[in-house]
Amino acid sequence: MKVFIVSDMEGVAGIVKRQQTDGTKEKRAYHEGRELYTEEINAAVRGARSAGATEIVVMDCHGAGEEWNFNSLIPDKLDRGCEYVVQNDWTEYTELLEQGCDAALFVGMHAKAGTPDGVLSHTVSGQAWRELKFNGVSVGETGINAALCGQWGCPVLLVTGDQAVCREAVDLLGSGLTTVAVKKGLGRFSARQIPPMRARQMIEDGARRALQDLSAVEPYDPGRPAEITIEFTTPDRLVEYRNRRGTEQVDDHTLVVRGDDWWSAWSQFYF
Ligand SMILES: [Zn+2]
Repeated sequence: MKVFIVSDMEGVAGIVKRQQTDGTKEKRAYHEGRELYTEEINAAVRGARSAGATEIVVMDCHGAGEEWNFNSLIPDKLDRGCEYVVQNDWTEYTELLEQGCDAALFVGMHAKAGTPDGVLSHTVSGQAWRELKFNGVSVGETGINAALCGQWGCPVLLVTGDQAVCREAVDLLGSGLTTVAVKKGLGRFSARQIPPMRARQMIEDGARRALQDLSAVEPYDPGRPAEITIEFTTPDRLVEYRNRRGTEQVDDHTLVVRGDDWWSAWSQFYF
């Protein structure tokens, strides 16, 4: 069984403050965040292996800034039972999916922009994006990663993070999804949390449980043809994307991208 672990940092137990996820200042808080992050990945790897996974690839999706972009995991502390990808651009790595992957597990996810109880909630860019829709359905980064996996027929079976992202993921992917909530947002930068040691056990158990039924969740397909709508916070944020192939500016703040399917729309716009 091949398993793809897609991970982000904001939804990890113990992480609540932006300083814990921002590599550019290289403060102690970020290095604490990396430790917490790596150990949650390890928990998911253990769970997947005990469920019978024979090949596990971890893909860090957290943009921590500069040389830390998609590179926040601590190599020396990663479980021996996985391999991991450091990519240059988010959604760049598709090899495992193209080869055929049985399931994806999403660890450390955060809720979409504008979620009141979403810890560190945002969509792609907290400063630049305020709303993202796939064929009219509002989505966050869980939706983007799920659509990426779904493009190659890979279902998402587990989402971990705060309560808000678990709710968002079930709304999008259905009740067959296994979720593990490791904290409850009290606001964007505050939460009631489960201690990391217990959260990791919950994630390990959740990963094992989720992989018992590979057909519990359908691979996510936003629909064909696909229309992606991005609302930017301010008009200047839209400028860099405006002239890309397949894009149409519909008003000061809003860009629409169309394609035969989600991936053709996303890849012409995002890269
Ligand atoms: Zn992130």
